[in-house]
Amino acid sequence: MISADLHIHSIYSDGKLTPEQIVNKAKEADLSAVSITDHDTIDGIQLAITASKKIGDIEVIPGVEISTEYQQDEVHILGYFIDYNSNYLKNILKNLQSKRKLRIRKIIKKLNDIGIYITLEEVCKTSTSSSIGRPHIAEILKQKNYVKNISEAFDLYLGKGKKAYVPREKLSPCDAIKIIKNSKGIPVLAHPGHLERPEVINKLVMYGIEGLEVYHKDHNKEQTLFYSQFAKKNELLITGGSDCHGNSPLLIGEYGIDKLLLNKLKEHSKKYTF
Ligand code: AMP
Ligand code: ZN
Ligand code: FE
Ligand code: FE
Repeated sequence: MISADLHIHSIYSDGKLTPEQIVNKAKEADLSAVSITDHDTIDGIQLAITASKKIGDIEVIPGVEISTEYQQDEVHILGYFIDYNSNYLKNILKNLQSKRKLRIRKIIKKLNDIGIYITLEEVCKTSTSSSIGRPHIAEILKQKNYVKNISEAFDLYLGKGKKAYVPREKLSPCDAIKIIKNSKGIPVLAHPGHLERPEVINKLVMYGIEGLEVYHKDHNKEQTLFYSQFAKKNELLITGGSDCHGNSPLLIGEYGIDKLLLNKLKEHSKKYTF
């Protein structure tokens, strides 16, 4: 039985639900723990914790999902039990967010140059996000009928190599692992099934990754089994989550880990309290 869904995005990155709504949905799904893992921001965590105290019987595990790049491939690193009050972490994330804003300006310029008229104000207005990204631009393109849906926005303009693609300056996975460890967190490789070159996983083990997101909505049975065995062989923690962005079907609580794995993760997080 699933006890914890440890991968959810809120309105503080590119999700549609508030942290309070996420905690409520997690409670409705009978979970004992939930983690909000926004892209490059921890701004939703305190609100989620406050909501959990009000609702009761549900734990919020402080989380984050850092986008990194390894030899031009995108690699996402999750951090759990991070110290979300740490100024060190806040400053690093703030810097990543400014780089995101800079990139958004460049994307808008490229779109304008090919006759697609959207403005930075429009993109920022629709969003409470501290971590603005391509999904926010895609939303405006949809609203202004330049595309039929979000997928088309990526296929025509925003995806890698497309007309308005701008690469973002990213950290390396090794840096992200260090940052998470320096913030007392547990670094976990997100959705290994998304890796463009699966062998990258061996490098991450060398760099000190401590867990693998075995259970994820995009993993099929074979991948789940493979990564579960890989984690056991390499003595890595096992995590899981829905990667819910607030779309329908919501999926909160449909992917995640059971009590036993949750306890192992919690136990591991205590290493910093000694
Ligand atoms: P960014 O952080 O700005 O690079 O945007 C990355 C986010 O865009 C990912 O986390 C996904 O949520 C979303 N995304 C990436 N590719 C696609 C796609 N082909 N269709 C829809 N959403 C996508
Ligand atoms: Zn996302
Ligand atoms: Fe991701
Ligand atoms: Fe995610």
